[in-house]
Amino acid sequence: MDTPRLVSLDREHLIHPVSSWQGHETNGATILESGKGVWLTDSNGHRLLDGFSGLWCVNTGYGCESVVEAGRRQLEKLPYATGYFGFSNEPAIELAARLTKQAPGHLNHIYFALGGSDAVDSTLRFIRYYQHARGTPEKRHVIGLQKGYHGSSFVGAGLTALPVFHRDADVPLPWQHHIPSPDPYRHPAGPNAEAIIQASVRALHDEIAKIGGPEHVAAFYCELVQGSGGVIVPPAGWASAMQAACRELNILFIVDEVITGFGRTGPLFACEHENIEPDMMTVAKGLTAGYAPMGGVFMSNEIYETIRDKTPAGVAVGHGQTYSAHPVSAAIGLAVLDLYEGGLLENGTRVGKHLATRLAGLGNHPLVGTTRSIGMLAGIELVIDKSAKTKPDPKLGISGKLSRYGYEHGILFRAFGDDVIGLAPPLCSTIAEMDQLCDGLVTVLDRVI
Ligand code: PLP
Repeated sequence: MDTPRLVSLDREHLIHPVSSWQGHETNGATILESGKGVWLTDSNGHRLLDGFSGLWCVNTGYGCESVVEAGRRQLEKLPYATGYFGFSNEPAIELAARLTKQAPGHLNHIYFALGGSDAVDSTLRFIRYYQHARGTPEKRHVIGLQKGYHGSSFVGAGLTALPVFHRDADVPLPWQHHIPSPDPYRHPAGPNAEAIIQASVRALHDEIAKIGGPEHVAAFYCELVQGSGGVIVPPAGWASAMQAACRELNILFIVDEVITGFGRTGPLFACEHENIEPDMMTVAKGLTAGYAPMGGVFMSNEIYETIRDKTPAGVAVGHGQTYSAHPVSAAIGLAVLDLYEGGLLENGTRVGKHLATRLAGLGNHPLVGTTRSIGMLAGIELVIDKSAKTKPDPKLGISGKLSRYGYEHGILFRAFGDDVIGLAPPLCSTIAEMDQLCDGLVTVLDRVI
Protein backbone atom coordinates (compact mmCIF):
# COMPACT_ATOMS: atom_id res chain seq x y z
CA MET A 1 0.00 0.00 0.00
CA ASP A 2 1.41 3.40 -1.03
CA THR A 3 0.55 5.29 2.16
CA PRO A 4 1.74 8.81 1.21
CA ARG A 5 -0.21 8.65 -2.07
CA LEU A 6 -3.38 7.44 -0.33
CA VAL A 7 -3.13 10.04 2.44
CA SER A 8 -2.77 12.74 -0.16
CA LEU A 9 -5.70 11.51 -2.30
CA ASP A 10 -7.79 11.11 0.86
CA ARG A 11 -7.12 14.75 1.75
CA GLU A 12 -8.00 15.94 -1.73
CA HIS A 13 -11.14 13.94 -2.52
CA LEU A 14 -12.77 12.08 0.35
CA ILE A 15 -15.16 13.97 2.61
CA HIS A 16 -15.07 12.41 6.08
CA PRO A 17 -18.08 12.14 8.36
CA VAL A 18 -18.32 14.39 11.42
CA SER A 19 -14.88 15.91 11.01
CA SER A 20 -13.25 19.31 10.74
CA TRP A 21 -12.63 19.54 7.01
CA GLN A 22 -9.73 21.93 7.62
CA GLY A 23 -8.31 19.60 10.27
CA HIS A 24 -8.59 16.64 7.93
CA GLU A 25 -6.69 18.44 5.17
CA THR A 26 -3.99 19.49 7.62
CA ASN A 27 -3.57 16.25 9.53
CA GLY A 28 -4.61 13.54 7.09
CA ALA A 29 -6.04 10.25 8.27
CA THR A 30 -4.74 6.92 9.54
CA ILE A 31 -5.47 4.38 6.84
CA LEU A 32 -6.67 1.11 8.27
CA GLU A 33 -5.70 -1.91 6.25
CA SER A 34 -6.71 -5.14 7.95
CA GLY A 35 -8.21 -6.62 11.09
CA LYS A 36 -8.28 -9.90 12.98
CA GLY A 37 -10.06 -10.47 16.28
CA VAL A 38 -9.70 -7.23 18.27
CA TRP A 39 -6.59 -6.13 16.37
CA LEU A 40 -6.32 -3.65 13.53
CA THR A 41 -3.28 -2.96 11.40
CA ASP A 42 -2.82 0.34 9.59
CA SER A 43 -1.06 1.04 6.31
CA ASN A 44 2.22 1.65 8.17
CA GLY A 45 2.04 -1.80 9.75
CA HIS A 46 1.19 -0.30 13.18
CA ARG A 47 -1.02 -2.61 15.29
CA LEU A 48 -3.90 -1.24 17.35
CA LEU A 49 -6.09 -2.96 19.93
CA ASP A 50 -9.54 -1.76 18.91
CA GLY A 51 -11.24 -0.77 22.16
CA PHE A 52 -14.12 0.81 20.27
CA SER A 53 -15.20 -1.96 17.82
CA GLY A 54 -14.74 0.39 14.90
CA LEU A 55 -17.59 2.75 15.74
CA TRP A 56 -19.29 0.61 18.39
CA CYS A 57 -20.28 -1.86 15.72
CA VAL A 58 -17.77 -4.69 15.15
CA ASN A 59 -19.18 -6.62 18.11
CA THR A 60 -17.89 -9.95 16.77
CA GLY A 61 -14.35 -8.70 16.16
CA TYR A 62 -12.70 -8.67 12.75
CA GLY A 63 -12.10 -11.50 10.29
CA CYS A 64 -14.86 -13.89 11.41
CA GLU A 65 -14.70 -16.53 8.71
CA SER A 66 -18.32 -17.68 9.02
CA VAL A 67 -19.52 -14.11 8.45
CA VAL A 68 -17.19 -13.54 5.50
CA GLU A 69 -18.29 -16.85 4.01
CA ALA A 70 -21.99 -16.04 4.45
CA GLY A 71 -21.50 -12.73 2.62
CA ARG A 72 -19.46 -14.38 -0.14
CA ARG A 73 -22.05 -17.12 -0.69
CA GLN A 74 -24.90 -14.62 -0.90
CA LEU A 75 -22.93 -12.39 -3.30
CA GLU A 76 -22.46 -15.36 -5.59
CA LYS A 77 -26.03 -16.60 -5.33
CA LEU A 78 -27.97 -13.32 -5.44
CA PRO A 79 -26.19 -10.01 -4.72
CA TYR A 80 -29.32 -7.91 -4.86
CA ALA A 81 -33.07 -8.36 -4.63
CA THR A 82 -35.61 -5.58 -4.48
CA GLY A 83 -38.29 -5.61 -1.83
CA TYR A 84 -40.48 -3.49 -4.10
CA PHE A 85 -43.23 -4.75 -6.46
CA GLY A 86 -44.02 -7.89 -4.47
CA PHE A 87 -40.49 -9.36 -4.32
CA SER A 88 -38.59 -10.58 -1.29
CA ASN A 89 -35.44 -12.56 -0.45
CA GLU A 90 -34.64 -15.52 1.76
CA PRO A 91 -31.96 -14.09 4.10
CA ALA A 92 -34.05 -11.00 4.91
CA ILE A 93 -37.11 -13.16 5.66
CA GLU A 94 -35.11 -15.54 7.88
CA LEU A 95 -33.42 -12.65 9.70
CA ALA A 96 -36.74 -10.87 10.28
CA ALA A 97 -38.26 -14.08 11.67
CA ARG A 98 -35.34 -14.83 13.99
CA LEU A 99 -35.01 -11.28 15.28
CA THR A 100 -38.69 -10.63 15.94
CA LYS A 101 -38.84 -13.91 17.87
CA GLN A 102 -36.19 -12.59 20.26
CA ALA A 103 -37.28 -8.96 20.37
CA PRO A 104 -38.98 -7.68 23.50
CA GLY A 105 -42.75 -7.58 23.92
CA HIS A 106 -44.93 -7.35 20.86
CA LEU A 107 -42.27 -6.15 18.42
CA ASN A 108 -43.33 -8.70 15.87
CA HIS A 109 -42.41 -6.80 12.70
CA ILE A 110 -39.18 -5.31 11.41
CA TYR A 111 -38.30 -2.89 8.62
CA PHE A 112 -34.70 -3.26 7.41
CA ALA A 113 -33.07 0.12 6.85
CA LEU A 114 -29.64 1.12 5.54
CA GLY A 115 -28.01 1.99 8.86
CA GLY A 116 -28.79 3.66 12.18
CA SER A 117 -29.63 7.13 10.86
CA ASP A 118 -31.96 5.68 8.29
CA ALA A 119 -33.58 3.48 10.94
CA VAL A 120 -34.24 6.57 13.10
CA ASP A 121 -35.50 8.54 10.11
CA SER A 122 -37.79 5.64 9.17
CA THR A 123 -39.07 5.39 12.74
CA LEU A 124 -39.94 9.08 12.78
CA ARG A 125 -41.88 8.64 9.53
CA PHE A 126 -43.65 5.50 10.80
CA ILE A 127 -44.74 7.48 13.86
CA ARG A 128 -46.43 9.97 11.53
CA TYR A 129 -48.08 7.20 9.50
CA TYR A 130 -49.35 5.62 12.71
CA GLN A 131 -50.79 8.82 14.13
CA HIS A 132 -52.55 9.61 10.87
CA ALA A 133 -53.83 6.04 10.59
CA ARG A 134 -55.35 6.09 14.06
CA GLY A 135 -56.99 9.45 13.42
CA THR A 136 -54.76 11.53 15.71
CA PRO A 137 -52.57 13.47 13.25
CA GLU A 138 -52.26 16.33 15.72
CA LYS A 139 -50.08 14.06 17.90
CA ARG A 140 -46.92 15.14 16.08
CA HIS A 141 -44.37 16.27 18.68
CA VAL A 142 -41.51 13.97 19.68
CA ILE A 143 -39.48 14.32 22.86
CA GLY A 144 -35.90 13.09 23.20
CA LEU A 145 -33.11 13.52 25.72
CA GLN A 146 -30.45 16.19 25.99
CA LYS A 147 -27.08 14.59 25.11
CA GLY A 148 -29.01 12.08 22.96
CA TYR A 149 -27.62 10.89 19.65
CA HIS A 150 -29.88 9.49 16.96
CA GLY A 151 -27.83 9.85 13.81
CA SER A 152 -27.47 12.64 11.31
CA SER A 153 -30.27 12.32 8.80
CA PHE A 154 -32.12 15.65 8.62
CA VAL A 155 -34.84 14.75 11.12
CA GLY A 156 -32.61 12.42 13.13
CA ALA A 157 -30.10 15.23 13.63
CA GLY A 158 -32.94 17.25 15.16
CA LEU A 159 -33.80 14.46 17.59
CA THR A 160 -30.09 14.28 18.39
CA ALA A 161 -29.21 16.84 21.05
CA LEU A 162 -25.50 17.43 20.55
CA PRO A 163 -24.64 20.98 19.40
CA VAL A 164 -22.30 20.00 16.56
CA PHE A 165 -25.18 18.26 14.76
CA HIS A 166 -27.45 21.31 15.03
CA ARG A 167 -24.97 23.98 13.93
CA ASP A 168 -26.09 25.59 10.65
CA ALA A 169 -28.45 22.67 10.03
CA ASP A 170 -31.80 24.32 10.96
CA VAL A 171 -32.65 21.64 13.48
CA PRO A 172 -34.22 20.73 15.88
CA LEU A 173 -37.44 21.00 13.92
CA PRO A 174 -40.36 22.75 15.64
CA TRP A 175 -41.88 19.41 16.71
CA GLN A 176 -38.68 18.10 18.33
CA HIS A 177 -37.99 18.67 22.04
CA HIS A 178 -35.48 17.50 24.64
CA ILE A 179 -35.61 16.92 28.37
CA PRO A 180 -32.53 16.66 30.64
CA SER A 181 -30.26 13.65 30.44
CA PRO A 182 -30.53 11.18 33.36
CA ASP A 183 -26.80 11.58 33.98
CA PRO A 184 -26.01 10.35 37.52
CA TYR A 185 -22.68 12.23 37.62
CA ARG A 186 -23.97 15.64 36.62
CA HIS A 187 -27.72 15.63 37.26
CA PRO A 188 -28.92 18.76 39.14
CA ALA A 189 -30.97 16.44 41.40
CA GLY A 190 -27.71 14.80 42.56
CA PRO A 191 -26.59 11.19 42.20
CA ASN A 192 -29.57 9.59 43.97
CA ALA A 193 -31.28 7.19 41.56
CA GLU A 194 -34.83 7.82 42.77
CA ALA A 195 -34.34 11.61 42.59
CA ILE A 196 -33.09 11.36 38.99
CA ILE A 197 -35.93 9.08 37.96
CA GLN A 198 -38.55 11.34 39.52
CA ALA A 199 -36.95 14.42 37.92
CA SER A 200 -37.03 12.74 34.48
CA VAL A 201 -40.69 11.74 34.82
CA ARG A 202 -41.54 15.26 35.98
CA ALA A 203 -39.57 16.79 33.10
CA LEU A 204 -41.51 14.63 30.63
CA HIS A 205 -44.83 15.76 32.10
CA ASP A 206 -43.70 19.42 32.12
CA GLU A 207 -42.46 19.30 28.52
CA ILE A 208 -45.72 17.75 27.39
CA ALA A 209 -47.68 20.43 29.24
CA LYS A 210 -45.56 23.12 27.54
CA ILE A 211 -46.34 21.59 24.15
CA GLY A 212 -50.07 21.74 24.92
CA GLY A 213 -50.85 18.30 26.34
CA PRO A 214 -50.46 14.64 25.32
CA GLU A 215 -52.95 15.10 22.49
CA HIS A 216 -50.11 16.91 20.67
CA VAL A 217 -47.32 14.50 21.55
CA ALA A 218 -46.62 11.31 19.61
CA ALA A 219 -43.65 9.79 21.38
CA PHE A 220 -40.75 9.85 23.79
CA TYR A 221 -37.67 8.45 21.99
CA CYS A 222 -34.47 7.66 23.88
CA GLU A 223 -31.31 5.59 24.10
CA LEU A 224 -31.20 3.21 27.07
CA VAL A 225 -27.53 4.11 27.52
CA GLN A 226 -26.60 7.44 25.93
CA GLY A 227 -23.63 6.61 23.74
CA SER A 228 -22.24 9.60 21.86
CA GLY A 229 -23.46 11.93 24.62
CA GLY A 230 -20.70 10.43 26.80
CA VAL A 231 -21.68 6.83 27.61
CA ILE A 232 -24.23 7.86 30.20
CA VAL A 233 -25.78 4.93 32.03
CA PRO A 234 -29.10 5.99 33.61
CA PRO A 235 -29.89 4.66 37.07
CA ALA A 236 -31.55 1.22 37.30
CA GLY A 237 -35.30 1.68 37.13
CA TRP A 238 -35.13 4.78 34.92
CA ALA A 239 -36.23 3.04 31.70
CA SER A 240 -39.17 1.27 33.35
CA ALA A 241 -40.29 4.51 34.97
CA MET A 242 -40.14 6.36 31.64
CA GLN A 243 -42.04 3.57 29.93
CA ALA A 244 -44.72 3.66 32.64
CA ALA A 245 -44.97 7.46 32.30
CA CYS A 246 -45.40 7.16 28.53
CA ARG A 247 -48.14 4.55 28.94
CA GLU A 248 -49.91 6.76 31.47
CA LEU A 249 -49.62 9.78 29.17
CA ASN A 250 -50.73 7.74 26.14
CA ILE A 251 -47.62 8.50 24.08
CA LEU A 252 -45.36 5.98 22.36
CA PHE A 253 -42.22 4.78 24.13
CA ILE A 254 -39.50 4.25 21.55
CA VAL A 255 -35.95 3.10 22.22
CA ASP A 256 -32.86 3.51 20.12
CA GLU A 257 -30.73 0.38 20.55
CA VAL A 258 -28.37 1.19 17.68
CA ILE A 259 -25.43 0.95 20.10
CA THR A 260 -26.91 -1.04 22.96
CA GLY A 261 -28.35 -3.84 20.82
CA PHE A 262 -26.66 -7.13 20.00
CA GLY A 263 -24.90 -7.86 23.24
CA ARG A 264 -23.18 -4.52 23.76
CA THR A 265 -24.59 -4.24 27.32
CA GLY A 266 -24.76 -8.03 27.97
CA PRO A 267 -28.08 -9.45 26.73
CA LEU A 268 -29.11 -9.34 23.06
CA PHE A 269 -31.07 -6.12 23.70
CA ALA A 270 -30.62 -3.64 26.56
CA CYS A 271 -34.43 -3.68 26.97
CA GLU A 272 -33.94 -7.05 28.68
CA HIS A 273 -32.30 -5.50 31.77
CA GLU A 274 -35.67 -4.14 32.93
CA ASN A 275 -38.01 -6.15 30.71
CA ILE A 276 -38.85 -3.03 28.75
CA GLU A 277 -41.43 -3.46 26.00
CA PRO A 278 -41.15 -0.44 23.72
CA ASP A 279 -43.61 0.35 20.95
CA MET A 280 -40.77 0.62 18.43
CA MET A 281 -37.05 -0.04 18.62
CA THR A 282 -34.27 1.01 16.26
CA VAL A 283 -31.13 -1.09 15.74
CA ALA A 284 -28.06 -1.10 13.45
CA LYS A 285 -24.30 -1.52 14.10
CA GLY A 286 -24.13 -4.93 15.88
CA LEU A 287 -26.98 -6.18 13.65
CA THR A 288 -24.33 -6.94 11.02
CA ALA A 289 -21.33 -6.27 13.28
CA GLY A 290 -20.24 -3.64 10.76
CA TYR A 291 -19.51 -6.25 8.06
CA ALA A 292 -22.16 -4.63 5.82
CA PRO A 293 -24.49 -1.65 6.26
CA MET A 294 -27.91 -2.38 7.72
CA GLY A 295 -30.33 -0.96 10.28
CA GLY A 296 -33.71 -2.07 11.51
CA VAL A 297 -36.95 -0.69 12.93
CA PHE A 298 -38.88 -3.10 15.13
CA MET A 299 -42.58 -2.30 15.24
CA SER A 300 -45.28 -3.50 17.62
CA ASN A 301 -48.27 -5.47 16.38
CA GLU A 302 -50.52 -2.54 17.35
CA ILE A 303 -48.60 -0.01 15.23
CA TYR A 304 -48.14 -2.38 12.31
CA GLU A 305 -51.77 -3.48 12.27
CA THR A 306 -53.11 0.06 12.62
CA ILE A 307 -51.08 1.28 9.64
CA ARG A 308 -51.97 -1.86 7.67
CA ASP A 309 -55.69 -1.74 8.40
CA LYS A 310 -56.26 2.00 8.11
CA THR A 311 -54.32 2.50 4.89
CA PRO A 312 -56.87 2.11 2.09
CA ALA A 313 -56.59 -1.19 0.19
CA GLY A 314 -54.15 -0.94 -2.67
CA VAL A 315 -52.53 2.28 -1.36
CA ALA A 316 -48.77 2.06 -0.65
CA VAL A 317 -47.12 3.17 2.58
CA GLY A 318 -44.65 5.42 0.77
CA HIS A 319 -41.45 4.60 2.58
CA GLY A 320 -38.52 2.50 1.37
CA GLN A 321 -35.18 2.51 -0.38
CA THR A 322 -33.49 0.55 -3.13
CA TYR A 323 -31.32 -1.23 -0.59
CA SER A 324 -33.95 -1.91 2.10
CA ALA A 325 -33.58 -5.53 3.33
CA HIS A 326 -30.44 -6.04 1.25
CA PRO A 327 -29.82 -9.81 0.90
CA VAL A 328 -26.04 -9.65 1.44
CA SER A 329 -26.41 -7.57 4.60
CA ALA A 330 -29.17 -9.91 5.78
CA ALA A 331 -27.06 -13.03 5.13
CA ILE A 332 -24.28 -11.41 7.13
CA GLY A 333 -26.80 -10.54 9.86
CA LEU A 334 -27.81 -14.21 10.11
CA ALA A 335 -24.18 -15.35 10.41
CA VAL A 336 -23.51 -12.70 13.06
CA LEU A 337 -26.61 -13.76 15.00
CA ASP A 338 -25.29 -17.34 15.00
CA LEU A 339 -22.14 -16.02 16.68
CA TYR A 340 -24.07 -14.06 19.32
CA GLU A 341 -26.15 -17.15 20.05
CA GLY A 342 -23.10 -19.40 19.96
CA GLY A 343 -21.42 -17.96 23.07
CA LEU A 344 -20.39 -14.42 22.15
CA LEU A 345 -22.97 -12.78 24.41
CA GLU A 346 -21.80 -14.86 27.36
CA ASN A 347 -18.19 -13.98 26.62
CA GLY A 348 -19.06 -10.27 26.42
CA THR A 349 -20.85 -10.46 29.77
CA ARG A 350 -17.94 -12.29 31.42
CA VAL A 351 -15.22 -10.04 30.02
CA GLY A 352 -17.39 -6.94 30.61
CA LYS A 353 -17.39 -7.70 34.35
CA HIS A 354 -13.59 -7.75 34.32
CA LEU A 355 -13.50 -4.50 32.35
CA ALA A 356 -15.81 -2.88 34.92
CA THR A 357 -13.50 -3.94 37.76
CA ARG A 358 -10.43 -2.61 35.97
CA LEU A 359 -12.15 0.69 35.20
CA ALA A 360 -13.31 1.11 38.78
CA GLY A 361 -9.62 0.91 39.69
CA LEU A 362 -8.98 3.88 37.41
CA GLY A 363 -11.16 6.04 39.66
CA ASN A 364 -8.06 6.91 41.75
CA HIS A 365 -6.31 8.51 38.82
CA PRO A 366 -6.05 12.29 39.32
CA LEU A 367 -7.75 13.00 35.98
CA VAL A 368 -10.66 10.59 36.41
CA GLY A 369 -13.90 12.01 37.83
CA THR A 370 -15.95 8.88 37.43
CA THR A 371 -16.16 5.67 35.43
CA ARG A 372 -19.31 3.87 34.31
CA SER A 373 -19.90 0.69 32.43
CA ILE A 374 -22.48 -1.87 31.48
CA GLY A 375 -21.39 -5.00 29.63
CA MET A 376 -18.81 -4.09 26.99
CA LEU A 377 -19.74 -0.41 26.98
CA ALA A 378 -17.93 2.06 29.21
CA GLY A 379 -17.14 5.71 29.80
CA ILE A 380 -14.40 7.43 31.74
CA GLU A 381 -15.20 11.03 32.64
CA LEU A 382 -12.20 13.30 32.99
CA VAL A 383 -12.05 16.32 35.31
CA ILE A 384 -9.31 18.65 36.40
CA ASP A 385 -10.83 19.14 39.87
CA LYS A 386 -12.54 16.08 41.32
CA SER A 387 -14.57 17.80 44.04
CA ALA A 388 -15.83 20.60 41.77
CA LYS A 389 -16.16 18.16 38.81
CA THR A 390 -14.52 20.78 36.61
CA LYS A 391 -14.26 19.76 32.97
CA PRO A 392 -10.82 20.13 31.36
CA ASP A 393 -10.28 23.42 29.57
CA PRO A 394 -10.43 22.83 25.78
CA LYS A 395 -7.21 24.90 25.57
CA LEU A 396 -5.38 21.94 27.16
CA GLY A 397 -6.13 20.00 23.95
CA ILE A 398 -6.75 16.82 25.91
CA SER A 399 -8.82 15.07 23.26
CA GLY A 400 -6.08 15.44 20.63
CA LYS A 401 -3.45 14.20 23.10
CA LEU A 402 -5.59 11.20 24.08
CA SER A 403 -5.99 10.10 20.49
CA ARG A 404 -2.31 10.66 19.67
CA TYR A 405 -0.94 8.90 22.75
CA GLY A 406 -3.51 6.12 22.37
CA TYR A 407 -2.29 5.51 18.83
CA GLU A 408 1.34 5.54 19.97
CA HIS A 409 0.56 3.00 22.69
CA GLY A 410 -1.36 0.78 20.27
CA ILE A 411 -4.85 1.22 21.70
CA LEU A 412 -7.96 2.68 20.12
CA PHE A 413 -10.77 4.28 22.09
CA ARG A 414 -12.96 7.30 21.44
CA ALA A 415 -12.51 10.73 23.02
CA PHE A 416 -15.79 12.65 23.29
CA GLY A 417 -14.67 16.25 23.48
CA ASP A 418 -12.04 16.71 26.17
CA ASP A 419 -13.93 15.09 28.98
CA VAL A 420 -15.09 11.55 28.20
CA ILE A 421 -13.27 8.48 26.95
CA GLY A 422 -15.62 5.93 25.44
CA LEU A 423 -14.87 2.21 25.29
CA ALA A 424 -16.79 -0.46 23.41
CA PRO A 425 -14.45 -3.40 22.80
CA PRO A 426 -15.52 -6.37 20.67
CA LEU A 427 -17.49 -9.02 22.57
CA CYS A 428 -14.87 -11.61 21.58
CA SER A 429 -12.18 -9.79 23.63
CA THR A 430 -10.20 -11.79 26.17
CA ILE A 431 -9.45 -10.76 29.74
CA ALA A 432 -5.78 -10.36 28.80
CA GLU A 433 -6.74 -8.00 25.98
CA MET A 434 -8.87 -5.91 28.34
CA ASP A 435 -5.93 -5.75 30.75
CA GLN A 436 -3.76 -4.56 27.91
CA LEU A 437 -6.35 -1.92 26.99
CA CYS A 438 -6.70 -0.69 30.58
CA ASP A 439 -2.93 -0.70 31.21
CA GLY A 440 -2.54 1.31 28.00
CA LEU A 441 -5.19 3.76 29.17
CA VAL A 442 -3.34 4.38 32.43
CA THR A 443 -0.14 5.09 30.50
CA VAL A 444 -2.00 7.46 28.17
CA LEU A 445 -3.70 9.30 31.06
CA ASP A 446 -0.36 9.62 32.90
CA ARG A 447 1.12 11.22 29.82
CA VAL A 448 -1.78 13.66 29.44
CA ILE A 449 -1.38 15.23 32.89
N1 PLP B 1 -28.63 6.01 16.99
C1 PLP B 1 -27.63 5.86 17.87
C2 PLP B 1 -27.95 5.62 19.31
C3 PLP B 1 -26.30 5.90 17.45
O1 PLP B 1 -25.31 5.79 18.34
C4 PLP B 1 -26.03 6.07 16.08
C5 PLP B 1 -24.64 6.10 15.58
O2 PLP B 1 -23.69 6.14 16.33
C6 PLP B 1 -27.11 6.24 15.21
C7 PLP B 1 -28.39 6.20 15.68
C8 PLP B 1 -26.84 6.46 13.74
O3 PLP B 1 -26.35 5.31 13.18
P1 PLP B 1 -25.53 5.37 11.79
O4 PLP B 1 -24.24 6.03 12.11
O5 PLP B 1 -25.42 3.93 11.40
O6 PLP B 1 -26.34 6.15 10.82
